Amino acid sequence: MVKKGFSKSYFNLKRVEVIFFLFVFSFASPGIGSASANTGKSGLKTSSNNKKQVIILKSDDFIFSEEWKRYVKYIEDKDIKACLGVVGKELDNESLCEWIRLLSTKNNFEFWNHGLTHSCGEDYSEFKNTSYEYQLSHLQATQQLFKDKFGITLRAFNVPCMDSDENTTRALADVEDIKIWFFGRKGASQLCLDRNGNIEFPYGYPDYNKFVERYNKNRLGQYDHLALQVHPGFWRDETCWDEFLKIMDYLFQKEVVFMTASEYYQSITAVIRVTNSSNNGPGSLRAAIDQANNHSLENAEIFLPAGTY
Ligand SMILES: [Zn+2]
Repeated sequence: MVKKGFSKSYFNLKRVEVIFFLFVFSFASPGIGSASANTGKSGLKTSSNNKKQVIILKSDDFIFSEEWKRYVKYIEDKDIKACLGVVGKELDNESLCEWIRLLSTKNNFEFWNHGLTHSCGEDYSEFKNTSYEYQLSHLQATQQLFKDKFGITLRAFNVPCMDSDENTTRALADVEDIKIWFFGRKGASQLCLDRNGNIEFPYGYPDYNKFVERYNKNRLGQYDHLALQVHPGFWRDETCWDEFLKIMDYLFQKEVVFMTASEYYQSITAVIRVTNSSNNGPGSLRAAIDQANNHSLENAEIFLPAGTY
């Protein structure tokens, strides 16, 4: 919605809604949840929006394999989005690296940090009962591998085997590039995507009947988004694949929209603030709108200082 008589075409507002706040704000990068245009505080859909539910496919343990090839092809054929979790140590496989290079040129995938070693144990795991320094070094190592090998900055993270502790929260807070924590801990400085629904029952086995039963029982349609975890590398049994396809068809009927984690993050946190500086006025408004459009920020709120409209 554009107020104060600005025409949409004049500002080339393809995807940006402009909301004018007649106060002086200084420029600040968006804080998490600071502009939740689309989401209630609880993560439930608000009555004021009729937006489609966002589905984020959190796809764990990405490697170079036939099972993964089938999954990736499906995502491309349907032209939807998936987030592929990579363990740093797997990047010594050149076939995997070549594939990541190829997929990173496409619009369907986002890679995320799934640790360095994926070690899981009873006494300790990569991110549980290990020191802050150890956890930080593992987080940074995978971030750096992606930067060095592919020029990619990873924005999302999840621990292997759901094992984390308070050191994980502290270490993640010191990795500024990571903005999203799948199934994160309370008190995290990242946007934590909750685990409201499941596709696999148990882990590695998609189950259509259980998915639908929980979908209805827990009223999963009420959430603004669902982050759904899958392990396509384990789907060697044809039944697993068929069950996954049925679940996806069920979701398609609900008219959901698939996003990467970063796209979802941007859609709910976009705030662009124009400073009350010497270059304010229509030019700075234009620059802010261009910035929002360049980042495909669907729900950007542009804050203007008084006197610039
Ligand atoms: Zn894993």
